[in-house]
Amino acid sequence: MNKSPIKKIIIIVVIALLVPILMYSILQFIESDKNEKFVETIYDRQLSSILFSVNQHCWDIFTSWESEITTLAESFTRHSYSRLKSGLYNFHQSQTSVTGAFVRFNNQIIIYSLENEIEELNSESRRQEFLTKINSLIRDNDSALERIISQAQKGYVRPIAFLWDANSMNKITLLIFPIIENSYTGDSTILAGIFVNNLDYIQEIVARKFGSMNDGNFVFAVRQKDEIIFTTDEAEEGEYEKKEALWILPDLDIQIKLKGTTLAELSKTRVRNNLILLSIVNVVFLCGVGYLIYNVSTEISLAKMKTNFVANVSHELRTPLALIRMFAETLEMGRVNSEEKKQHYYKTIMSESARLSQLINNILDFSKIESHKKEYHFETASLVAILTQTLDIYHFRFVQTGFEVDVDIDDKLPDTQLDSEAVTQAIVNLLDNAVKYSVDEKYIKVSLNRNNGYLELAVEDKGIGIHESEHEKIFEKFYRAGSSLVHNTKGSGLGLSLVKHIMDVHQGKITVKSKLNKGSTFTLMFPLQLKNGEH
Ligand code: ADP
Repeated sequence: MNKSPIKKIIIIVVIALLVPILMYSILQFIESDKNEKFVETIYDRQLSSILFSVNQHCWDIFTSWESEITTLAESFTRHSYSRLKSGLYNFHQSQTSVTGAFVRFNNQIIIYSLENEIEELNSESRRQEFLTKINSLIRDNDSALERIISQAQKGYVRPIAFLWDANSMNKITLLIFPIIENSYTGDSTILAGIFVNNLDYIQEIVARKFGSMNDGNFVFAVRQKDEIIFTTDEAEEGEYEKKEALWILPDLDIQIKLKGTTLAELSKTRVRNNLILLSIVNVVFLCGVGYLIYNVSTEISLAKMKTNFVANVSHELRTPLALIRMFAETLEMGRVNSEEKKQHYYKTIMSESARLSQLINNILDFSKIESHKKEYHFETASLVAILTQTLDIYHFRFVQTGFEVDVDIDDKLPDTQLDSEAVTQAIVNLLDNAVKYSVDEKYIKVSLNRNNGYLELAVEDKGIGIHESEHEKIFEKFYRAGSSLVHNTKGSGLGLSLVKHIMDVHQGKITVKSKLNKGSTFTLMFPLQLKNGEH
């Protein structure tokens, strides 16, 4: 297997996901100014539409007043002044912000009803004054009224607003509008008026509408000339973003702003937050892609190592089997005469079969470890005895392969808790490697000493060594170092991973000191005292 699957995955991920996401992100960063403007425009429109709907609401209210009074005026007959008057009375009584209303016929007869009428118009002269004021207002605004009358004839009724009483505390606006026809009197254009108390109107109608649309993010105000006469938040400072004249009472402006911020600030924060979020998404995504590639490449190299493993193991099984068979057959045929040669053959058969069982043990143990079925049997045992025994068994192989062996064992070491079989296997693996990976200088030193609460068993060789970059990897399953010398040597890549597992179970450690072409020292560190409760 070559590296192309990883490359392919990287290319697919980059083209299909990374490039579009990165391009989108870059575009967002480049266009952040534009986006800010865009978001600002959206908010701006939202504010305008809120003001629009306040105006629309006020207009609807006026339309309902207008139709109520029109109905009253249309049903009026010359003989029922009092009915019209009581109708007007009921009308303004039912509206908190309306202080009175009148209907003025073509013959200038004015029927009116006012709040506090008795106090306000208690003398004939006051009443005349009131009527004259209305008449002169109408006369003075003749042309403007003509215009709304002609509009009303086309079906569009709108009022003209007059400031009726500018001096009073609560300013009163008079809304005059036309009523086109009265079937009883034959009057073609009647004028009607509604007196509105500005402040009451704002409290009753405008503020309520504000309230129904405010989700806490806006501040509303009503301004008359330079003075704010109403606001939904006294504490709010700063300019109002949008203002519009109140259609019904045009000398009042309704205004709106965002609570605690401005449109520009808000859109900037929104766009900035989006960019931060996008950056986080990108980082997370890149990490994800990195993790994916890492995992896939590990899986692929594991698969590759497994394939090599099968090839190596078959090779390793075949060679000793062939040797054993060959020597056994030669012996069986009785062709070997010299006793010395016979001994040599016997020992070869023994050492090769020992090698075979070592390999098979490794494989079986490995598969048990992988399926979590490997069991260890701890007992009080002497590491010195285990090492000496193993070296005895190995002696023939050393001699046969021409190794010089140096042994340094402190024989006064205490017994410890061990699984003898597993520890033997670990030592054999280290000796096996030392023999396998020594080429020119065939020297092995085995030592066992006590050091800092540990028994330290070291196997040193002067073989091919291991590059520093591989010091950790050699303990991974199936891993074999990259050098070609290693690949010419038989091996399964399981030995050291098993040794590491055995040392972990013994609460110990395995360390390696090695330099390429200089040799290696593997040290097993067994604690003198196992921690309680672990085995
Ligand atoms: P293998 O069956 O390949 O020997 P191991 O797990 O025992 O598997 O060892 C893993 C790798 O570590 C070996 O393939 C080899 O590259 C390296 N190695 C182990 N011991 C030695 C040593 N004494 N000298 C040089 N390289 C070694």
